Amino acid sequence: MAKLEYIWLDGYKPTQSLRSKTKIEKDFSGKLEDVANWSFDGSSTEQAPGGSSDCVLKPVYMVKDPQRKDGYLVMCEVLDSTGARHESNGRALIEDDDNDFWFGFEQEYFLWDPATNKPLGFPASGFPGPQGPYYCSVGANNAFGREIVEEHLDACLDAGLNVEGINGEVAAGQWEFQIFAKGAKEAGDQIWLARYLLERIGEKYNVSINWHCKPLGSLDWNGSGMHANFSNTTLRTAGNKEVYDIICEAFRPVVSEHVEVYGADNHLRLTGKHETASIHDFSYGVSDRGASIRIPLATVERGWKGYLEDRRPNSAADPYKVAARIIKTVKTAEVYV
Ligand code: ADP
Ligand code: MN
Ligand code: MN
Ligand code: MN
Repeated sequence: MAKLEYIWLDGYKPTQSLRSKTKIEKDFSGKLEDVANWSFDGSSTEQAPGGSSDCVLKPVYMVKDPQRKDGYLVMCEVLDSTGARHESNGRALIEDDDNDFWFGFEQEYFLWDPATNKPLGFPASGFPGPQGPYYCSVGANNAFGREIVEEHLDACLDAGLNVEGINGEVAAGQWEFQIFAKGAKEAGDQIWLARYLLERIGEKYNVSINWHCKPLGSLDWNGSGMHANFSNTTLRTAGNKEVYDIICEAFRPVVSEHVEVYGADNHLRLTGKHETASIHDFSYGVSDRGASIRIPLATVERGWKGYLEDRRPNSAADPYKVAARIIKTVKTAEVYV
């Protein structure tokens, strides 16, 4: 008896959330191609009107469920009742059939206490000490929720997700994990499954995950991002500063198209403070953490062979839509002869 957890994104705007339900399958082969399409009530997820409520779940990526006996986590695309792409389905917008685009997302988030409606580490009234000691910290005065973070890391690794690292972040109760994949769709799938596992582990501890990009508002606390590190063959092999300039410049005329899919409320985060660029500007620079796009120093040191980091996507952005938009823009750069 296999337990297949079908996971999809709902139709809420501006931020979609994870939904899932379980299907029991006898004699399951363990292969994705043997996972059948399924359906759900789209009128309960803002994805269909009540009169014709069925939406289709199309399995696209699967890993073992590390925390459930005979379980599998099945990431799905949503189709409408005719089998066409549902408008909430960002994954289907990704044009990367040959997996030439590699993505490494740095997912930041807050562990949140539902009782106080504040991050872990915040007293019930007032504030903890100012930012400074929390980033990459150890010790009960500064690191809050490590047990959850460690359990999540193990769960991701046991599932076969390609987590590259974790770290405590700048604000109290704020953490980050990084996931890398060769192929934009798989990178998005892995981020969503890692988010799913974190949400589910949080249930056990009665700690919720706050994905909002600026949950402490305009106070002097960092927001949460999801920096998108990306490369294609051209960026990985360029050997030439000019190629990097041309690709970065391709982003300049499409700032609003990018910001549109970089997560809700990003104007609260991209202020020009707290290691961000202003949401209205576009800039890029080597090693510049105040730029929209950072060219990592290591890329320059390898002779302009490497990747770029778009620092603008926020913690609540959909990695599918972020990747789809970056790919579209990179493909417009006139460097391909
Ligand atoms: P920082 O915090 O300094 O911005 P991190 O180490 O947290 O950097 O994240 C860097 C990310 O860049 C990692 O997720 C890594 O997988 C990704 N990365 C490294 N090389 C490439 C590449 N060639 N293409 C895409 N992403 C890459
Ligand atoms: Mn990082
Ligand atoms: Mn970070
Ligand atoms: Mn980064």
